[in-house]
Amino acid sequence: MALLSRPLKTFLTTAAVVLTGLAAAPMARAQQFDQQPIDPNLAVAIASPVRNGAFYSLMILTQVPNQRQCWQEQGQAGGPITVDPLLLNFDFTGACDRSTDGNGYSVRINGQDLGVHYRLEVSARQNDLVLFARPTRDRAAPPIEIGRTNGRTNGFLKIQLNPGWQMTRRTYNGQPVGHIYLTHDAPLDVRLAAGATPPLSQTPNTPPVGRPTTPPMTSPPPPSTVATGNYFRVVVPITGPNTLQQVRAVEPEAFRTTADGQEVVQVGVFRDRQRADEVYNALVAASLPAKILGASAPAVASTPTLPPIPQGSLVVVIDPGHGGRDPGAVGIGGLQEKQINTAISNRVQQQLQAAGITVLMTRSSDVFVDLDARAQYANRAGASVFVSIHANAISMSRPEVNGLETYYFSSGERLARSIHSAVLQNVSMRDRGVRQARFYVLRYTTMPSVLVETGFVTGAEDAARFRDPAAVNRIADSVARGILNYLGR
Ligand SMILES: [Zn+2]
Repeated sequence: MALLSRPLKTFLTTAAVVLTGLAAAPMARAQQFDQQPIDPNLAVAIASPVRNGAFYSLMILTQVPNQRQCWQEQGQAGGPITVDPLLLNFDFTGACDRSTDGNGYSVRINGQDLGVHYRLEVSARQNDLVLFARPTRDRAAPPIEIGRTNGRTNGFLKIQLNPGWQMTRRTYNGQPVGHIYLTHDAPLDVRLAAGATPPLSQTPNTPPVGRPTTPPMTSPPPPSTVATGNYFRVVVPITGPNTLQQVRAVEPEAFRTTADGQEVVQVGVFRDRQRADEVYNALVAASLPAKILGASAPAVASTPTLPPIPQGSLVVVIDPGHGGRDPGAVGIGGLQEKQINTAISNRVQQQLQAAGITVLMTRSSDVFVDLDARAQYANRAGASVFVSIHANAISMSRPEVNGLETYYFSSGERLARSIHSAVLQNVSMRDRGVRQARFYVLRYTTMPSVLVETGFVTGAEDAARFRDPAAVNRIADSVARGILNYLGR
């Protein structure tokens, strides 16, 4: 790839001090990780166009030394540098790594992992695309500018990092792992920089960052491409008999509906554009022709409201999958997944309540609840545990496929194993394993979270079990037992 030297800009030494407001925040995870430098020629941060440049997401490519070239650059530093990400066209396994979301990259400043406090976001700014670290919790804290494209096209553009910023690789117990950091090694007081000094970037067009009056840093997509409103609706047009099944392998909560008169599978409606982007990217990575549509209000029939929670109580959120106009999977004899989910969830709730636990349900009747609302509900409740209850499906011509699958994404692994083994101990069913998956409700809940696929509505053995109320209760009691074991109750 081209070797490009960046003109050195003077680093703002005035931007010293501390990360205001973060000092008291828990940093437990940060202790485990360290960083190691990456040769700047072997990594590139790219503004990656979504929907023909209606907006952009961040993609980071890293090159394994002495392997096939992963990308090509064209252009001069100071102006736009276009990137041809060659790996999108060929199989570059072993030569290139690609990070496309918050699991693959995060911000690290002055030796602290800030992935929990900031997310990386590419926003249009006049004739530039700017990479920001945007605060996720402290709404008053200003975003931090990390780099910009120095010009704009509809293609892939290199993000040229501001002085002081570099990419490093996360290490765990001294071993390099796949995660990439956007790293600044000096303490950086964003609030001070915003209030009393020039903006962090010296590029002339930069708006001042961090003033309370600064408008939101996200620029809405052009009106021509997103019809109305502030919500982003992620759908996949139905192109064949397996579309719903394929989408549900990426997001189990997806359901069939219409959009603009077209038959689609809807995954979710998001207020947050980056979350819509991430879901979109996950679908595209699974070769699904996803689309992001505008929506004036979330297409939710029901947003769960939090009941009062007794002080000091242990809270478990149970999430019965699907509901309302979304029956979930439909199996042998018209067996509807949502009914199984409801029966199991209600019984789990009773059992946990009997053990003195406060149990909240993302839905307590047969209503439709959006994907994001489910995760946010658990977060707002301050739940200790989140368990989503589903039933699985595969083609009706595969009745031989049966069994239990339990999913976690990160912190839910121990919980997943506890539930999975409790069910297998008490219910005679096939073991399809504890698995890791990037399902939305697992990624965007802040507590240990698990999604249980309690059997196949299309499976001969499992469907028969689902039709037996005593057997359904046994599954529910075992899920509850697994949760209680995990909680030490
Ligand atoms: Zn489901």
